[in-house]
Amino acid sequence: MTAKPIGIAVLGLGNVGSEVVRILTENAEDLAARVGAPLEIRGIAVRRVDGKRGVDAALLTDDPESLVNRDDVDIVVEVLGGIDVPRKLILAALEKGKSVVTANKALLAEYTGELNEAAEKSRADLYFEAAVAGAIPVVRPLMQSLAGDRVTKVAGIVNGTTNFILSAMDETGADYAETLVEAGRLGYAEADPTADVEGYDAASKAAILASIAFHTRVTAGDVYREGISNITSADLETARSLDCTIKLLAICERITTPKGKERISARVYPALVPRDHPLATVNGAFNAVVVEAEAAGRLMFYGQGAGGSPTASAVLGDLVMAARNKFYGGRGPLESKYAKLEIAPMGDISTRYYVSMEVADKPGVLATVAAEFSKRDVSISTVRQSGSGDGARLVVVTHLAADSALSETVSALDKLDVVTSVASVLRLEGT
Ligand code: NAP
Repeated sequence: MTAKPIGIAVLGLGNVGSEVVRILTENAEDLAARVGAPLEIRGIAVRRVDGKRGVDAALLTDDPESLVNRDDVDIVVEVLGGIDVPRKLILAALEKGKSVVTANKALLAEYTGELNEAAEKSRADLYFEAAVAGAIPVVRPLMQSLAGDRVTKVAGIVNGTTNFILSAMDETGADYAETLVEAGRLGYAEADPTADVEGYDAASKAAILASIAFHTRVTAGDVYREGISNITSADLETARSLDCTIKLLAICERITTPKGKERISARVYPALVPRDHPLATVNGAFNAVVVEAEAAGRLMFYGQGAGGSPTASAVLGDLVMAARNKFYGGRGPLESKYAKLEIAPMGDISTRYYVSMEVADKPGVLATVAAEFSKRDVSISTVRQSGSGDGARLVVVTHLAADSALSETVSALDKLDVVTSVASVLRLEGT
């Protein structure tokens, strides 16, 4: 091939970066044919340069800034992680008109505006398919395939660690703490699992998905978030008795107020999901995203949401697109943010709830509890009573109710003499 090579800087040689470099090297000929020009790695930035990396040692550098600024670098692949360092490097690349491919959801969910504006200014590409749900193509379908449709909802399981933990708790009956240890031992949970188990990672992905789906800038701070660390084996047991399981869901939804005003909701929380819902069958470290659009109807995307090789597949897809644009001229779609929809507060969102309480074992308890729901217009769908004496328990499942009404109800229940404790409150989705 005689075409001038396209220069690539790879920032990071960890789980994802090493797979990106492997595929770029092993599939060089095919990739060149697909792009029209060879893709040549100009350098690979790491923290520590040492010889035992399985790549040409001459490519390694601990100076990512100089690598990004090299004249023979046309596209920068950022797979470092973190926020401040990659932000600076990506902005430097975009300002010089170099296209950027990144897998960094945390950075995008916080600085999407700044990064997209820099890309727009220099007419460079900023691609990030790998930032949401690893190998699963969901960013490009939303941005391009559904560009002519009206997306109403995007809901999914976008964090493999929490899905692994909840699936294992469901299967084995083990509690949260011991399942988290097992997830760490098997490599599904990091040494500090906070970002995953407290829902921060899923919230970043929800922000990215909502921004694209609803043509509105949404940041991680706009996303309502609850993690899974309070889920107990008793919750999963009750879920099973209701023919449900529990999943950490990221939900992005278009909402119309009674006065006809459009708003959006972006939220992450563990929810009961009926066993016959497609998301209930997504187990282990797998991810799935369900998209609902007015003309297309319901679409489901399923696959490996993390891991070096699956994530590298998404990075390479973006890289080929960016390289084709460099070779033939032109660029990918700009950020679409024209709708500027307001974010609805969580209190205004209606869902169904499951409330589990330890209660006194005496007559009249049910009527006292039911009265608190009714006072706030929270209509009850089912009530189950189990145990006796100190172990008496009441599980209430509601019809659709506003989150604010439910929160008030739970505070009131907590104060009742007949309620020893409100053991857990979970939302029910997909019913
Ligand atoms: P990782 O295994 O921790 O690798 C990070 C790499 O970046 C390492 O090679 C490290 O160098 C290098 N690095 C970090 N800071 C640096 C700095 N300041 N200067 C130079 N090099 C630096 O991370 P990863 O799992 O590959 O993840 C990378 C990115 O992909 C993250 O944004 C992550 O959120 C995203 N992502 C990952 C997955 C996944 O399954 N792993 C899935 C989707 C998205 P050393 O090798 O010298 O330490």
